[in-house]
Amino acid sequence: MTNPLYDALIGDKSTTNAPFLISQEGEVFSYGQFTARAGQAAHALQQLGVRHGDRVMVQAEKSLDVIALYLGTIRCGGVFVPLNTTYTAKEVEYFLTDAEPTVFIAKPENAKNLEPIANAAGAKLLTLSDDGRGTWFDFCGNTCSAVFASECTGSDLAAILYTSGTTGLSKGAMLTHDNLLSNAQSLMQAWHFTSDDVMLHTLPIYHSHGLFVAINTTMLAGASMIFNHKFDAKKVIGQLKGATVLMGVPTHYVRLLKQPELTKQATSNMRLFTSGSAPLLAQTHNDFTSVTGHKILERYGLTETNMNTSNPYEGERRAGTVGKPLPAISVEVRNPETGEKVATNQTGSIEVNGPNVFAGYWRNMEKTYAEFRADGFFMTGDLGFFDDDGYLTIIGRSKDLVISGGLNVYPKEVESEIDGITGVLESAVIGVPHEDFGEAVTAIIVKKDDNIVTKQMIFDCLNSKLAKFKQPKEIAFVDQLPRNAMGKVQKNLLRDEYCDLFSNKRS
Ligand code: AMP
Repeated sequence: MTNPLYDALIGDKSTTNAPFLISQEGEVFSYGQFTARAGQAAHALQQLGVRHGDRVMVQAEKSLDVIALYLGTIRCGGVFVPLNTTYTAKEVEYFLTDAEPTVFIAKPENAKNLEPIANAAGAKLLTLSDDGRGTWFDFCGNTCSAVFASECTGSDLAAILYTSGTTGLSKGAMLTHDNLLSNAQSLMQAWHFTSDDVMLHTLPIYHSHGLFVAINTTMLAGASMIFNHKFDAKKVIGQLKGATVLMGVPTHYVRLLKQPELTKQATSNMRLFTSGSAPLLAQTHNDFTSVTGHKILERYGLTETNMNTSNPYEGERRAGTVGKPLPAISVEVRNPETGEKVATNQTGSIEVNGPNVFAGYWRNMEKTYAEFRADGFFMTGDLGFFDDDGYLTIIGRSKDLVISGGLNVYPKEVESEIDGITGVLESAVIGVPHEDFGEAVTAIIVKKDDNIVTKQMIFDCLNSKLAKFKQPKEIAFVDQLPRNAMGKVQKNLLRDEYCDLFSNKRS
């Protein structure tokens, strides 16, 4: 029986004592022990009726059992569907109805609310907590690990990941065995992973960054990981001595830099720090290098494609860019209307083709057709440009593009100028409905602690730096920008909050 993803991730490690996971309590699980746990999960899922192609939905706190459920689902030919742990019962109802899972594993405290919804969707509901309580644990803990292995091919689905849905309804991205495996192979090579590596895992595992980029790459290399349930900057710095790789989102690096304990010595055992899921400010990149001597490797990917580009492991890691396409992946910057490739240094729509690109949106042919070109390229929705040396820079999401008085304003260009002003910590630029301009450029700004900067100072500084149509029509100061768990600024929330800003004004 073949099972491309499971065979590659577990393979001949299934009986070894090589360490796989070191829990936050310091307990070590070998690959052999983990394989047995994943086997029990697969056996239990089969007893619950999961067959080839059936979905297994999981909304549970980060734990070894969730990883066992992931591998166990794949082992029995199922499709793993992890959900953001903060989704409410109302939101979960949409996912249950859309994915129609055979089994749904939820947090014990949510069971009462979710039971009627799960029943209506025809899913068997079991519960799992991160400290080993729940009906899933009771059911699974006593089963054997014998599995009627299911024959799978590379084009079979391994997972459906719902997009973060910052604009409109979340869509289920269908990821095949080949999508996930090819990307893990690329990253293992590109980032020089070996069985000697120890990954410090602090990301959520319902998202492709923490689940696929971090865990698949670690397992494929036969490496091990220190498994923290959440990111705690002080704790992480203490653990760096025993780790070799940290995968973070930009906010993690900002928080690490606030700790006096972050030093060259504290990071001397580390060989790689990566960043992704949201833009890493060049300032953070440079500050991290001054403090630790390490250059963060920034990469770029999406739920639908896994990783597309990466700064080089060897060679220049260019701050503010997301590097070059990974081997076997075509990344092109195209004219959004015509689909023609645009010239170097010209901004356009970032489009991707390769073995990493997903198989379409679950039960949504319309969206699938809308986001693929006839030649197979997937339109990521990101805007960017390649420089003369082939490094890609992301300018922002096309949905975030502001069109003011008929002219395009790329938020990142305005944000970069604002962020460079003394006294500004960070900013987010959005378009707000405006009677004259259609949309008015609006800057939401977080000040640094010294609090000296004023609206007038920002307007004055930008006057000499940006064309009039790109300058904000209005500025609001806030204590912090709304961010999701992956550190992405939720511009949709800002657009909602400030939608009436100009309704009584003319300028
Ligand atoms: P998700 O599907 O949640 O992984 O979000 C994917 C989106 O995150 C991309 O379409 C980009 O807009 C953004 N993103 C991911 N990595 C980066 C990066 N290194 N720099 C800027 N944006 C990024």
